[in-house]
Amino acid sequence: MSSLKLAAITKTRRTVVQVGEVKIGRDLAVIAGPCSVESEAQTIETARAVKSAGADMLRGGAFKPRTSPYSFQGLGIGGLRILEKAKRETGLPIVTEVLDPRDVSWVAEFADILQIGTRNMQNFSLLKEVGRSGRPVLLKRGMYSTLDEWLNCAEYILSEGNPDVILCERGIRTFETYTRNTLDLSAVPAIRELTHLPIVIDPTHSTGRPSLIEPMSLAAVAAGADGIIVEVHWRPEEALCDADQAMTPAGFTGMMNRLRPLRTFMEKLPA
Ligand code: PEP
Ligand code: MN
Repeated sequence: MSSLKLAAITKTRRTVVQVGEVKIGRDLAVIAGPCSVESEAQTIETARAVKSAGADMLRGGAFKPRTSPYSFQGLGIGGLRILEKAKRETGLPIVTEVLDPRDVSWVAEFADILQIGTRNMQNFSLLKEVGRSGRPVLLKRGMYSTLDEWLNCAEYILSEGNPDVILCERGIRTFETYTRNTLDLSAVPAIRELTHLPIVIDPTHSTGRPSLIEPMSLAAVAAGADGIIVEVHWRPEEALCDADQAMTPAGFTGMMNRLRPLRTFMEKLPA
């Protein structure tokens, strides 16, 4: 690593980010929900389904970073109000992406965790702004970024006085085309070696294939990940964003029946 003096790597005690009841970095944190907030019914029904399957937090984008400017861009403030309602109805804390430094202070009023997407990992003014937001930040790895670059981005947030950074491995670009990206599972133990910050994995954007989500989630738990963030949609075929990769509520429920028991098993393995 080039950056020997980073706070991201020098502190020795593991960072635990508490959000509601969940202690990310100690418990297995499961964040689930649609790619984007599309309607009240879609969001609230999905929230209820993931909650009853055992999710700890609800994800959902109100601002979507789309490849095409003509694709659905998210509902904006209307989407945040729907998330607020879903939180009121289910008790699930909210993880939602912020794209623009000018929106951070007011999006933070709706978000329990602010998500920085892969495309914005090195948006330094955005990183500084979320560093001053008073909210935990889920920092996704840039799709072309090294671990060193990623940790330097975490440092931008930490250096503004925000200690609550959660790293998220969401797959990197390789020559492989069968999967949407390539999940760098080795990032989990590598990050564990390098930093005190918690790491979760995103099995959805890394694989782009619902059939691969469960095996990679189980593998991430076996590798020591602190949690997962996964896309679940009440009717995947109708999703306005990332329709091909969303899990059904039934698929998610099945996975959850195996994920937490695997974590319990891992914790009981001899040292
Ligand atoms: C998302 O979580 O919906 C998303 C856009 O993720 P990423 O930034 O990893 O592509
Ligand atoms: Mn998505």
